[in-house]
Amino acid sequence: MSDKQLATIAVRTGIESDSQHNAVVPPIYLTSTYSFPKLGELPQYDYSRSGNPTRNMLADALSDLEGGAGGVVTSCGTAAINLLVSALLSPDDLIIAPHDCYGGTYRLFNTRANKGDFNVLFIDQSDPVALTQALAKKPKIVWVETPSNPLLRVIDVEALCKQAKAAGAQVAVDNTFLSPLLQQPIKLGADFVVHSTTKYINGHSDVVGGVLISKDADQAENIAWWANCIGATGAPFDAYLTLRGLRTLGARMRMHEENGAEILKYLQTNALVGQIYHPSLPEHPGHDIAARQQKGFGSMLSFELAGTYRQLEVFVEALKLFSLAESLGGTESLIAHPSSMTHRAMSDEAQAEAGIKTSLLRLSVGLEDPQDLINDLEQAFTLAAEAV
Ligand SMILES: *Cc1c(COP(=O)(O)O)cnc(C)c1O
Repeated sequence: MSDKQLATIAVRTGIESDSQHNAVVPPIYLTSTYSFPKLGELPQYDYSRSGNPTRNMLADALSDLEGGAGGVVTSCGTAAINLLVSALLSPDDLIIAPHDCYGGTYRLFNTRANKGDFNVLFIDQSDPVALTQALAKKPKIVWVETPSNPLLRVIDVEALCKQAKAAGAQVAVDNTFLSPLLQQPIKLGADFVVHSTTKYINGHSDVVGGVLISKDADQAENIAWWANCIGATGAPFDAYLTLRGLRTLGARMRMHEENGAEILKYLQTNALVGQIYHPSLPEHPGHDIAARQQKGFGSMLSFELAGTYRQLEVFVEALKLFSLAESLGGTESLIAHPSSMTHRAMSDEAQAEAGIKTSLLRLSVGLEDPQDLINDLEQAFTLAAEAV
């Protein structure tokens, strides 16, 4: 593990490691296979599904940033989640997940549970009674997402890990919304960290990728074995691009947060903005926990449009600098309507239970000049106000 600050690790990983030509930036290894030194002698790399120098460099960097013992870079975030449950869960095992978890995670756990691969229980993890009752069922894994999507609910990871451990469960945290620069779940007691590197880690909306990091070295080896077994690993070219994106993570996260704070300040002044969900707000129920366990509040935020659905339509369509799109964490700003987009796989009842209303909008604040973003929001709100 490196003794350097996180932004430094992100920048320096693999720099000046090329022994062939002293290239400052590490080369990409686009090969499916590797020659054996001689018959019967296994090389370090034999086939790129099981190992590839470019992909392993990214995996080591991300593991270092999370304070883990090792990681596996997968073809997408969902593949990392699938890898975890494939490696750890048997048909009698139980996984506890939040009822407002990422839509794809909800679908994966639900579908595989319905097939009999394992059991799943979706609960409100911020409800201490529900959590205690669920832990009494002796789950093998507790799945955590904090801050959650799209309402930015915050879970006290340290407290939950203590409780889960006492019940014999391991804890896996999806850290996609903050990146390791703003939150390090393993330091808070988690056993596994998952990222959709598609989001902040790559940061340029041009790659889908994922990573599963283990706190424990034996578990990291087990996970790597499973990744090769089920073919979950990612492509070297994607790893190369992600490593390139990772180098600016420190600078990007700082600016994402600055811009997010400006947008938040502006939203609080507009009459068409109802409730705002962001952990930096003192009235947010998770504010104190977030202030303690995160190194920043992040730049994902959501709010209710206090108007008719027609006004919401006019607002969204009038925006020029916020693209109407799923995903998040890229340099460009995005707006999403969770109930018809990211969370449409959830039934109306499940959406209602998770608190996702049709008036809810989610912003991924990008790296444009914040005043331009505010001007864009302002003109769209003005048109929406006239629309009634
Ligand atoms: C996007 C996302 C995922 C899934 O990752 P993919 O790379 O799209 O497969 C999982 N969790 C969260 C929180 C996400 O935002």
